[in-house]
Amino acid sequence: MRVCVLASGSKGNATYVEGGGTRVLIDAGLSCRALERRLAEAGLGDGGLDGILVTHEHADHVAGLARFAARHGLTVYANEGTAAVVERQCRLGGTPPPDFAVFESRVPFALGGLTVTGVRVSHDTAEPVAYTLDDGAARLGYFTDLGFVSREVAAAFAGCAALILESNHDPQMLRASGRPFALVARIAGESGHLSNDQACEALAAHCPATLRRLVLAHLSEECNQPAVARALMARTLRGIGREDLAESLLVAGQDRPLPPFEL
Ligand SMILES: [Zn+2]
Ligand SMILES: [Zn+2]
Repeated sequence: MRVCVLASGSKGNATYVEGGGTRVLIDAGLSCRALERRLAEAGLGDGGLDGILVTHEHADHVAGLARFAARHGLTVYANEGTAAVVERQCRLGGTPPPDFAVFESRVPFALGGLTVTGVRVSHDTAEPVAYTLDDGAARLGYFTDLGFVSREVAAAFAGCAALILESNHDPQMLRASGRPFALVARIAGESGHLSNDQACEALAAHCPATLRRLVLAHLSEECNQPAVARALMARTLRGIGREDLAESLLVAGQDRPLPPFEL
């Protein structure tokens, strides 16, 4: 399996995954042109994609979805709740909605050579999911935009060779950000985003023995610092005897793709 985080954060999210002869994007939250540019920048050509998986309908996950899917003739995979809202958003915005293949959350399905499972998460949208993607040789877990690590989420870490995990904010920086109280409460709440501390606690409690690569993702540009998130997680990983993961830890950013990694 080959994985490349093309962009991560509140201004746009997209991750490329190739496994079992199948290539997909998880989310398409940059403009169509920016997505094409990022794929080229990462050395992935035009991606030669087989489909797009959508986590939820927030703009930072679907901004370029309809146009990119139309231009590349791609099917969009989403659960019923997310597909319905994205379709409505497209119609309201005067954009023809993409062709959807609707799946059921929690029920694994085949997308070419990948087995995909939508894992329900707590976030303030219609039917948000995280994903696991398995090509028979390795499993990737993609967990961003979740308010807390539920038992269901923790259980889905099991067997993953790589995790892309939200480490959104530093709670102190969030409180000191001068943002309106309601927004701070939303981000820190159970339907918001995982803090650095929550991400660390989740790994300390549920790090699977199979894990070979960890990527911190969806970092807030105003309420976090990559060096802070990295240092906290590295300390956590060393604390549980996973020096190897601390060494290879990646932190995804907004402005450029991470180098692709293999599993
Ligand atoms: Zn997001
Ligand atoms: Zn979101």
